[in-house]
Amino acid sequence: LVSRKWRVHPTVLDLGDGIHLGEGSLSIVAGPCSIENEAQMEVVMQHLVQSGVRLMRGGVFKPRSSPYSFRGLGLEGLRDFYRLARQHGLRIVTEVMQVSQVEEMLDYVDVFQVGARNTQNFNLLDALGQVDKPVLLKRGVSGTIEELLHSAEYIFSGGNEHIILCERGIRTFETASRNTLDLNAVPILKEKTHLPVFVDPSHGIGIREHVAPLALAGVMAGADGILYETAPVPERAASDGQQTLNFDESARLVEALRRTYALR
Ligand code: PEP
Ligand code: MN
Repeated sequence: LVSRKWRVHPTVLDLGDGIHLGEGSLSIVAGPCSIENEAQMEVVMQHLVQSGVRLMRGGVFKPRSSPYSFRGLGLEGLRDFYRLARQHGLRIVTEVMQVSQVEEMLDYVDVFQVGARNTQNFNLLDALGQVDKPVLLKRGVSGTIEELLHSAEYIFSGGNEHIILCERGIRTFETASRNTLDLNAVPILKEKTHLPVFVDPSHGIGIREHVAPLALAGVMAGADGILYETAPVPERAASDGQQTLNFDESARLVEALRRTYALR
């Protein structure tokens, strides 16, 4: 069902307010790795509005390698995130980690994110097939392109056709970067599926200085959207600060993304 053979026309998701995701426009999703507090949300939102970015990312349920790391503000934080975002005219993308969270998050989410550790959580994918909110599905840490498409198929066949695929780097033998951003996946996915394809260069390389060039490369490779991390003081971020852009870097990237997309 997610194949181009089944549906020729690209799927474009309409989030209302003139916000469309998919072929024909470049979507930019930016924000902190973790939602930390109201003051942080407020300054990020002001930055995004100033930059003309309509979608904000931020996790309240965080999958952390160590159980002692910051694991997110949870549902209460999500309610604040959603309320503040609405006040700023922003849409939010936030990670859901387990089936039981789907229903409790539903009223406070614009786009559910399925993280790389849950790409093959088939019960979660089934549950997301039942909701009428879009799902941004990340590629698994060690997942093939084919496996990503099969995971999308779970959601689509359950009845939810609003899916975005996201390349976020895979685990390879390389240790110089956090992951290996597989830009090959972009043209291959665009050829194979009618679904929108995004690139996440932040998790893809994990090194702040290199996020922007990879974001631009993602656009030139054919991505319909770029998702990256930005925060007021990356050095003090509760998670993923090493790959998070400050607002100056973020504003410059947004400009460069628009110029690059215009060249395509
Ligand atoms: C994130 O977006 O902060 C995240 C945890 O991403 P991933 O699942 O790609 O690691
Ligand atoms: Mn992160």
